[in-house]
Amino acid sequence: MRGFAFVSPTSLAEASSILANDEGEARPFAGGTGLMLMMKTGVFSPTRLVSLRETEVAHRSITVTADGGVRIGAVCSLTQIEHDPQVLACAPVIGRTMKTLANVRVRNVARIGGTLAHGDPHMDMPPVLASLRAHVVTSGAAAREVAIEDLYAGYYETVLQPGELITAVVVPGQAGWRSVYLKCTTRSADDWPALGVAVSLRIESGVVADARVVISAACEKLTRVAEAEALLKGASADLANFTKAGEAAAAVVETVEDARGSAAYKSELVKVYVRRALSQASEGTV
Ligand SMILES: Cc1cc2nc3c(=O)[nH]c(=O)nc-3n(C[C@H](O)[C@H](O)[C@H](O)COP(=O)(O)OP(=O)(O)OC[C@H]3O[C@@H](n4cnc5c(N)ncnc54)[C@H](O)[C@@H]3O)c2cc1C
Repeated sequence: MRGFAFVSPTSLAEASSILANDEGEARPFAGGTGLMLMMKTGVFSPTRLVSLRETEVAHRSITVTADGGVRIGAVCSLTQIEHDPQVLACAPVIGRTMKTLANVRVRNVARIGGTLAHGDPHMDMPPVLASLRAHVVTSGAAAREVAIEDLYAGYYETVLQPGELITAVVVPGQAGWRSVYLKCTTRSADDWPALGVAVSLRIESGVVADARVVISAACEKLTRVAEAEALLKGASADLANFTKAGEAAAAVVETVEDARGSAAYKSELVKVYVRRALSQASEGTV
């Protein structure tokens, strides 16, 4: 691995400025759990790492928003989020998902900003946050809000511009919604999944008032399945309609073959797991 300088600016504005002026040579460093692997394998060879961990305390804080949602600073560790009572009250699916994400050592070190910027389609938090209708806030002159499902341009590729940093992720209030995340690993239980499915349902008087269906891991990039959502909206919340939604998702999601299964096998997984996730979301207080 090539040698590099390590700098720790105390403001996000300074970090952005270093990154914008050192395009291609400097990279943001959050927990380093993804980045160091990329550097060790030669995918990235930055000459400078710009740590975000000493930036303003707001980027390491979690606050409740006016609509009952949460604003999570980009430099919050996954462990901090896993145990935060405000996050757990807003969206318990986040706490449940964290328990199956990597291991406690990785969660202690990894930050939510790095987790979302890494762009690996097998990761757990992007589909969960997309199903919760969350968005990221970015830094810089052209600061913007980007819905999680719009953050990914391709395999390990985001829409973030050079020097543009994620400063926070905002999860809206979840009143009336129930959410479930399921993943299917086809080798060992702790391997990367062949499929991730995150769903959120809002059911009123036995009818689906609104729905989110998001697929990860089986495809090149996180995919929100509008066809399945449209089919569910206004339909009764029953197994027949959840089965139809699973079939609709399997028909449109472009699955890819890899060591965890063929594309055809993953399409079958999509069909079954979408149905299962919707059934679970409709049943419990999740
Ligand atoms: C052993 C192991 C097991 C794992 N298992 C799982 C698992 O089961 N499920 C799962 O989802 N993930 C898993 N992961 C992946 C892990 O979740 C990611 O490596 C981690 O979330 C990345 O966060 P980080 O803070 O370490 O990011 P870093 O490694 O610091 O950064 C990742 C990327 O994001 C960029 N970046 C960092 N912060 C920002 C920011 N604020 N704005 C813009 N760009 C930024 C960096 O330049 C880099 O390109 C595993 C990792 C390891 C090492």
